[in-house]
Amino acid sequence: MEHTNHLQAIGDLHSWHFERCAGFQSIVESCGWKGNLYKKPQDIYLHSGIFKEIKLISMDVQDDILLLKSSGTSGTNRSHIYTDRFTRISQQRALQEIITKELLIDIKDKPAYYVIENPKTIQGRGIEEVGYDARFAAIKGFSTFGKGMKYLLNENNELDLNSLENLRNERGNVFIFGFTASVYLYFIQRLISLNIRISNNDVILLHGGGWKKLEKYGISNSELKKSAEKTIPNINCVNYYGMIEQTGSIYVECKEGFLHTNNFGLIITRNNNLDICKYGEQGIVQSLSVLPKSYPGQSVLTEDIGIIYGKDDCKCGKGGLYFKIIGRLPKTEIKGCSDVYY
Ligand SMILES: [Zn+2]
Repeated sequence: MEHTNHLQAIGDLHSWHFERCAGFQSIVESCGWKGNLYKKPQDIYLHSGIFKEIKLISMDVQDDILLLKSSGTSGTNRSHIYTDRFTRISQQRALQEIITKELLIDIKDKPAYYVIENPKTIQGRGIEEVGYDARFAAIKGFSTFGKGMKYLLNENNELDLNSLENLRNERGNVFIFGFTASVYLYFIQRLISLNIRISNNDVILLHGGGWKKLEKYGISNSELKKSAEKTIPNINCVNYYGMIEQTGSIYVECKEGFLHTNNFGLIITRNNNLDICKYGEQGIVQSLSVLPKSYPGQSVLTEDIGIIYGKDDCKCGKGGLYFKIIGRLPKTEIKGCSDVYY
């Protein structure tokens, strides 16, 4: 999709949420953005922190709503995202289009699905009063692309050797999903220390989120990839970037190690004055998604720092903007207009 189409869709969503979400309307009006809903849709954004502070919901009929909560450890400070059935279906469809295209997964002949997760984190934690946990939602969301679901960790976060043996005996393709830090700390590093090689023919390892923890250990994405290839020679180790406010429209890493925008999502980077950066310049990442209709998550200013390197000329041959996430803002330093609301 060309950028003009993304921006047009974002303009439509701004207007949709302006009419249906009191919180969004009041922010837009107070920031003097009303005239820009269509004119400059890229300049209207909510800071991701606002979803932790106020209830933002945009629906006429408030039924069939699922509350999705971010997986923060500090119980009170979690994002609250309200999704209705329509939004969930379009998010799942987008995810399917992105995953089948980028990872070449054939959903008619699904690979075996393994998660680098402790079953305790997930079991008994479904759709319940406390809400839908983002970690659970991701594991479940990606389970559509594989068959069965086996945990590679036990309840003490150790490698489950039986499960690992099953994986090594799989004859067909294998799809492994995990959060970046768990993939490195609980899986790859342990395989290396136990001197276990996984020599299956075709292993896709998709990982995302949780990289903050890994940063603490000084491990980069390319180092993770190298270690993974050492112990699983036929692996396709792929990172993705996504956020709870924009489930479905994730950005997937290409062979050259860059994340790419796609039909559903677009990235903008902004400097400290919140002006749009040039290619190659590092800035605060703003992410646009054409999917959210039950909450105003269509344009979110994150706390991540990234660099957009260019458009349509990545060596991998794929189109779109190609970018990298290189870190996180030390503290919330952004002085955007929507900041005053929390
Ligand atoms: Zn590329």
